[in-house]
Amino acid sequence: MDRRAEVTGSLNGNFRGDGFGPVSGGFSAKAISGMAVLTNEAHLEIARFPSIRLTAPVNSTFELFQVTIGNRFHWETREDQTFLGNLILWPRQDGTIAAINEIPLEDYLKSVISSEMNATAPMEFLKVHAILSRSWLLAALERKKKIKETSLSARKIEEEGEVIRWYDREDHDLFDVCADDHCQRYQGTRKILSDRAQEAVQETFGRVITYRDEICDARYSKACGGLTEDFDTAWEDKRVPYLTSISDSPVPHLPIRTEEEAERWILSAPEAYCHAKDEGLLEKILPAFDRQTKSFFRWTIEYSRQELEEILREKSGIEFGDLQEIVPLRRGPSGRIRRLKIVGSKKTMVVGKELEIRRWLSRSHLYSSAFLVRVKHDPHGKAEFFTFQGAGWGHGVGLCQIGAAVMAARGFSAEEILKHYFRGTEIRKSY
Ligand SMILES: [Zn+2]
Ligand SMILES: [Zn+2]
Repeated sequence: MDRRAEVTGSLNGNFRGDGFGPVSGGFSAKAISGMAVLTNEAHLEIARFPSIRLTAPVNSTFELFQVTIGNRFHWETREDQTFLGNLILWPRQDGTIAAINEIPLEDYLKSVISSEMNATAPMEFLKVHAILSRSWLLAALERKKKIKETSLSARKIEEEGEVIRWYDREDHDLFDVCADDHCQRYQGTRKILSDRAQEAVQETFGRVITYRDEICDARYSKACGGLTEDFDTAWEDKRVPYLTSISDSPVPHLPIRTEEEAERWILSAPEAYCHAKDEGLLEKILPAFDRQTKSFFRWTIEYSRQELEEILREKSGIEFGDLQEIVPLRRGPSGRIRRLKIVGSKKTMVVGKELEIRRWLSRSHLYSSAFLVRVKHDPHGKAEFFTFQGAGWGHGVGLCQIGAAVMAARGFSAEEILKHYFRGTEIRKSY
């Protein structure tokens, strides 16, 4: 939980402080003049330090109240969450405070597996996710170390009339990973009691995906739409051999190269592992709040011109005037647009990469940037409605979660599934 005016919660046990006595029960923490200030249920100040670490007794938990989940995505909700491990309270310069959970990696994974997917999902799929999340985290920590040693790589190219931006996950300063979809969903221990998630983590203990002896930067998203995407459509311009487009299907689909091919692809219903028509299986895989999204394999959204102009103004900070045209300039092999031209009466801009495009065209996020745009004009030739027809959910790079779950339900092993999405890789023990 980061950048909050106040953090409230409850310590279920006697937590040890650095330089102050055991604390338990309800608490509140705020940043006051650069110090973390902890108060108890009776509003009495207990501690005031540059940062506060509360060390948990064995098997004790703490709760944080009103944690935001699905931050800024199309679903967003708040709930109280319970965590194992220690609690660190860290004030920020801007007067807000961060609550950080310190927990062993394998314990963290058990919660991630339960948070990302339903524990009723097929066992091989839970194992896939355990290996995937472990690899992603260990690779991210490695990268973070390297970045500290060298200088930060550029993440933004802004030229006249062009905004090309991507978001790396090494953006956190005070902690390793956040608890939201930005990194990996981590919703505490509420669901850790799921025996199956625990079993999946234990059975794959220490196992990771490797490529040429290095732990893979194992990216994943909800549903690729039938073809997975290349790494550089979403992030920096480099080729990652194991993060290149594949056909997510028992039948081969060719990569998209032209607008005609994109149109044919997006308007069709190709056979694909993530083209799951089985409602019962989706229910077993997806947590309840993800199930609110029904059509993610192919989807349609329509805006009036005024509505889209308002969204664009709010999200990009740019005044386009009367919106005239939206033109894909370059797509990746899954059909996801990486450069998009937006034409208005006052301004024309090119935007990229895929996440920035999705942000600009929706109040939250468009499901994916693999879309076609149709414009309906009024009798005077002025744009009236913009319809987006799209494919897939998320960036589409690496593993397709729905596809992987369907493969598991059809009897593929965890190793077969991982090797289907990450070509040329091995599964190895890292410790
Ligand atoms: Zn994050
Ligand atoms: Zn897929």
